Amino acid sequence: MKSNNTFRIALFPGDGIGEEITEPTRLLMDEVASRIGGFAFDWEPCEAGAGYYRKHGTALPEQSMKAAREADAILLAAMGLPDVRSPDGREIAPQLDLRFDLDLYAGVRPVKPLPGVRPILADPRAHDIDYVIIRESTEGLFAPQAPGTRDGDAEARETMVITRPTCEKLFDFACRLAGQRGGQRKVTSVDKSNVFPAFGFWRDIFYERTAAFTDVKADHCYVDAFAMVMVQKPWTIDVAVTENMFGDILSDLGAALMGGLGYAPSADIGNDHAVFQPCHGSAPDIAGKGLANPTAMILSAAMMLEWLGARHNATDTMRAASALRQAVDDAFSGGELVTCELGGKAGTSAVFEAVRSSLAKVDA
Ligand code: NAD
Repeated sequence: MKSNNTFRIALFPGDGIGEEITEPTRLLMDEVASRIGGFAFDWEPCEAGAGYYRKHGTALPEQSMKAAREADAILLAAMGLPDVRSPDGREIAPQLDLRFDLDLYAGVRPVKPLPGVRPILADPRAHDIDYVIIRESTEGLFAPQAPGTRDGDAEARETMVITRPTCEKLFDFACRLAGQRGGQRKVTSVDKSNVFPAFGFWRDIFYERTAAFTDVKADHCYVDAFAMVMVQKPWTIDVAVTENMFGDILSDLGAALMGGLGYAPSADIGNDHAVFQPCHGSAPDIAGKGLANPTAMILSAAMMLEWLGARHNATDTMRAASALRQAVDDAFSGGELVTCELGGKAGTSAVFEAVRSSLAKVDA
């Protein structure tokens, strides 16, 4: 942090709707900072993404990586375009490189529907859904040290990597989070240890580490059964920790239960760095139409404020996070702000204006 309580934020708009949701989020962050006082932001716009790769042949230039490394936190919108690929056929995905390079092992993906957004599940207990999926974000089936291979038209293989050091810090992180949340104080390992020895290893370490957290209960569930729990009785979940690919899939299911990807924030957290970004991608199907829901990015920015506040023991930053969350809740509370995911017409600027006007009225 700079001496005058100014946080340096590396800001990556990325691709597709990324540009469209970045500016409203940045404006709200500046507004909440000046409203609360005591801190400010120094934004460093960073170029990266599939569009950048198409023009320059590289997806994450060193200058942007340097800015990310030196920043107090990183705020990212979305990256990737389905038709921009490397010669081996994979999409250009610098958002994954950031996770690997900065060792952002804990992908924190809260599932908590906003009070005023039409519930997706009919059961009245759906109002009580409030849990977090922690997606391990540097290994598993995405592990960069074990890229897949393809032998022409004959066969293709992928390798799943589970290591003890990453599991240990991941499970410790999950237990600390369950303790801090102060709810059910429960951590669930979501794995497939009935079939894969790698998950047997994962589960052994899970119970080794969770045993040290006596205030937190530990249990487990196979991933297929857990997908059912997420729909059938999601109010029983508190903190669920899972492998990279499983977390990728399950967190989209969680997003759907919140109303759509435009409501689902996330954070990729390591010991020294963190990236805050919505769960969604660049949504090329709606890019340029003004339809993108910026809520997930605004809530990711609120998570950034909380992370900065905890890290720097900064109460002003924590108050700003609460004010921003309250403004989002208030903007949707009347039920009139309906975004395109739920069949409504409220686009990026309608959501931004509603949150901005609520923020002006929040008792902060
Ligand atoms: P996507 O998340 O971009 O979109 C899936 C669906 O959700 C689309 O119908 C889209 O219109 C909708 N949607 C997403 N965000 C929305 C928002 N804010 N408001 C309203 N609707 C929203 O997933 P995709 O279409 O499978 O992928 C598009 C590109 O994004 C691909 O190149 C993919 O690799 C990339 N991607 C990037 C990230 C990331 O940056 N972390 C994550 C997922 C996908």
